[in-house]
Amino acid sequence: MPRLSRRSFLAASAALAARRAFGASAPRASAIDVVIIGAGAAGIAAARRIAAAGRKFVLIEAADHVGGRCVTDTSIFRVPYDRGAHWIHMPDLNPVTKLAPGPGIDVYPAPASQKVRIGRRFAREGELEDFLTLQVRANRAIAEAARKADMACAQALPNDLGDWRPAVEFVLGPFACGKDLAQVSAVDFAKSAERDADAFCRQGFGTLLAALASGIAVKLSTPATAIDTRRNVAVETPRGTIAARAAIVTLSTNAIASGAIKFTPELPYRQLDAFSRLSLGSYDHVALELRDNPLGLDSDDLVFEKSTDARTAAILANVSGTSLCLIEVAGTFGRDLTAQGEAATVNFAADWLAGLYGADVKKAITRSHATRWNNDPLTRGAFSAAAPGWESARRALMEPVRDAVWFAGEAAHETLWGTVGGAWESGERAADAVLRRLAGLKEPAPAEAAAPRKGRSRHRRAAPRPTPRYEATPGIMRED
Ligand SMILES: Cc1cc2nc3c(=O)[nH]c(=O)nc-3n(C[C@H](O)[C@H](O)[C@H](O)COP(=O)(O)OP(=O)(O)OC[C@H]3O[C@@H](n4cnc5c(N)ncnc54)[C@H](O)[C@@H]3O)c2cc1C
Repeated sequence: MPRLSRRSFLAASAALAARRAFGASAPRASAIDVVIIGAGAAGIAAARRIAAAGRKFVLIEAADHVGGRCVTDTSIFRVPYDRGAHWIHMPDLNPVTKLAPGPGIDVYPAPASQKVRIGRRFAREGELEDFLTLQVRANRAIAEAARKADMACAQALPNDLGDWRPAVEFVLGPFACGKDLAQVSAVDFAKSAERDADAFCRQGFGTLLAALASGIAVKLSTPATAIDTRRNVAVETPRGTIAARAAIVTLSTNAIASGAIKFTPELPYRQLDAFSRLSLGSYDHVALELRDNPLGLDSDDLVFEKSTDARTAAILANVSGTSLCLIEVAGTFGRDLTAQGEAATVNFAADWLAGLYGADVKKAITRSHATRWNNDPLTRGAFSAAAPGWESARRALMEPVRDAVWFAGEAAHETLWGTVGGAWESGERAADAVLRRLAGLKEPAPAEAAAPRKGRSRHRRAAPRPTPRYEATPGIMRED
């Protein structure tokens, strides 16, 4: 029989308390300290923190699985397929890889280089150099503009990007932010942490995240429908009302803005505004199983196109050495495309690949799937990017409501927004704030609480360094 660690003992105690609270028709306010809503990265991180502090919590999740936007499917292709997050940014610093427990999970460095397709051939070394130099220049121009005013990134771009402009715009806009650069705040972009090294998890990033939820009791298929903060906190679900002293809400900005949860009293206008200013961009995978590697690419090769307009995509080839290739569609083009349905999205990907590699590629497709995150009612998009002029909305999101409700999630992070690591850190931060409030301690000054990482500029998924391997044990304790 496995020995109980202090952490799993605390988690088990919290789970027991949660079960008791759910069984009762009128739960006592004192039974639960915190109700955590949403079991994605932020919710799991918050739950682990609260459990470690010995406080009683209930973690509820609307879906029938944990992970949210970081989830691995193994049924469609019979190999791990990350339907959401796949890249582990900055694995040396990423809280998720730093925590990964036990054997069974293999995290390995992503290749350092990118490739570029120009029609039917690859870019030559000099052309690749031009492309990378222009990306760096565009990054710098946005950072410089951001020091003066919070304009749209598109306004800050250098004029002389020449015929590389559509490719540079795709990499920095739709591919990195899920939105076209005209819709992205230059300050938000410039503040986001440099992601100069990446890693992948052979079993899937979602599997790794699920392993971190192991031992945490999660009430699945239990959507919160209303939160009343007039007297303590009462969270309504179809399975009954949960009374607690505080709530941590980790729903995506679009899910909150859609009114999925009714707040009584209504949320302050400042916060409501923040959710709409931090709306989610569009980013989807078209997953194609390709027989006999017709693209001739290596494991985890990343390929962009020197495109002539916004109708473009990126390829992540032979994921972790399998025959699965992800065609990444994003931004306004990706949003319009995926709105036409899965078949139309897969057709675009197949035609686009055929244009770059020849018509025979289409014959090699043995299975396909396209995610449509904008249509997922529990998420309604991919990840947040602030509208021009609205970077400050992230701080508004982090303010507690009536000293009873804290928002967490990727949007509530000033430098790691749009990432699993950012969501995780925001969950921990919200949990720490709740624990301070429960202990009757004062909050630190806002500047200290929200200090961004200094000296970094955004350069997503560029020139990764080799990173160590990590080990973890998968397994989730579930309650249905
Ligand atoms: C296609 C795609 C690719 C991405 N690629 C990367 C990447 O490569 N690397 C990276 O770091 N990040 C990536 N991201 C972003 C990353 O997935 C997110 O930033 C992160 O997973 C968000 O975690 P979260 O906890 O904030 O939110 P979520 O994961 O959205 O968690 C919120 C949870 O709340 C649940 N919920 C919703 N409504 C209710 C309700 N009413 N009651 C109870 N529960 C509810 C949801 O089901 C969900 O489980 C990608 C995202 C997408 C969509």
